[in-house]
Amino acid sequence: MSDTIPLLPPEVPSALRGIATVQGVEASYTVNFDTVECDCQHGAAWRFDGKRYKPNGFCAHKLKALASLIEASHGGDDENYPELYDFFELQCGKRYNAFEAVSAMHKELRRGDVEQALYWAMVMIPHRGKHGVINYMRNIIFEETRDLALANYIFAMSSYGQSVTLLNMQRAVVRFCHAPKKWQLPHRLPIFLNEQRGYKKLVAKYGRDVAKPSGIIPKTEHEHLLQVLHEGFSIGKPDLVQYGLKGLFKSQASSIDQHHTDLLNHLIDIMNGEFENSFKRDDKYVRRVYDYVMRKVNTYGVPGYHDLNALCDALTGELGDGTATLSPAAHKAIATRPTVYRMPLAPLRRIPLYAQDNHTWKGKSLMRTHGPTQLQPGADQNDIDFRLCGAYMGVAWRYLAVKQNATIDCKWSDVKWNAPPWLWTHLDQMWY
Ligand SMILES: [Zn+2]
Repeated sequence: MSDTIPLLPPEVPSALRGIATVQGVEASYTVNFDTVECDCQHGAAWRFDGKRYKPNGFCAHKLKALASLIEASHGGDDENYPELYDFFELQCGKRYNAFEAVSAMHKELRRGDVEQALYWAMVMIPHRGKHGVINYMRNIIFEETRDLALANYIFAMSSYGQSVTLLNMQRAVVRFCHAPKKWQLPHRLPIFLNEQRGYKKLVAKYGRDVAKPSGIIPKTEHEHLLQVLHEGFSIGKPDLVQYGLKGLFKSQASSIDQHHTDLLNHLIDIMNGEFENSFKRDDKYVRRVYDYVMRKVNTYGVPGYHDLNALCDALTGELGDGTATLSPAAHKAIATRPTVYRMPLAPLRRIPLYAQDNHTWKGKSLMRTHGPTQLQPGADQNDIDFRLCGAYMGVAWRYLAVKQNATIDCKWSDVKWNAPPWLWTHLDQMWY
């Protein structure tokens, strides 16, 4: 442990040498790549993190000087071009807060903006690695889509032992962007509304906050909730199934893993006909979802929350028609990229306002100030933007936006919340 400033500058590519002058907003600055210092107040080569010295993140001027060098390398003719560009992207990524970058990438995958999604995926790499980007996408597939071709493709890429190239990681991002999203599928709105009817009953019995992950519902309710789940299946009432399923999810458990495994076993019993099931289901589709979930279980040990929801939706009659899934051929055609995407050499992008939601600190604070007015039905969202938010209110908004305007590329105020009339008030209790 040492608290003396290291004698040598931090390691940078050997091509990065010499002194550059960079014009800032108000003054010009001198960047010295031999010492890796800039004469601005953020320009030190090293920073002390309380324990030891670490290479300091690049200031805007170092990044600008580096970008000029890359630009001057004639579109890649220079032999140092790839190494310098890799280093530029690494330093750009490090400038961001990892949680905000993840949130931005998730929103762009949801929105389907390929260029933006690739940008934020590249920002994530210094924080989580390429594998981290793939694993993140694997975990959210059924939160956003019912695209089993995409699920199988990303699962294969994330499997142990397979190294992920940058190009393949980017292809997966592109495929995810193009996958049909849940709120675009005409058959899904009733499924979503039944889920909320189930939650509404849970709120009435156990109080608001049932959407929060911590065990709001006592363990002693397990038997009751399981009975309701079975009753829902036996009389064909999807809202009762959802009451039981979501109640079991949200009830106290000694271990979440055990909890999810138990729930999977209940669903498998129902699938195998050990309990009465009055739903008209698409057996081929049930089988495909089940196969995917089991492949995940065999690799990772436990099914995820969204996997169990997908299996339950299939068991209550969700259709596996062609609208949910792009064919593997279509996916491949869309995602084929001959070359790797590079982050633009332009100034760093700001985290978009819609990346700030109930999951980021800034978003939470904005929500406290502006939520009471700007989350209202028909309100103008000037200080917050929750159209792409993952909480149920955002999900509902997207379903309604597609139903009313055929797109989610419209304003918050363009969506009417009149049907069903209870929906908005209910969703305002479902923040987590
Ligand atoms: Zn500087």
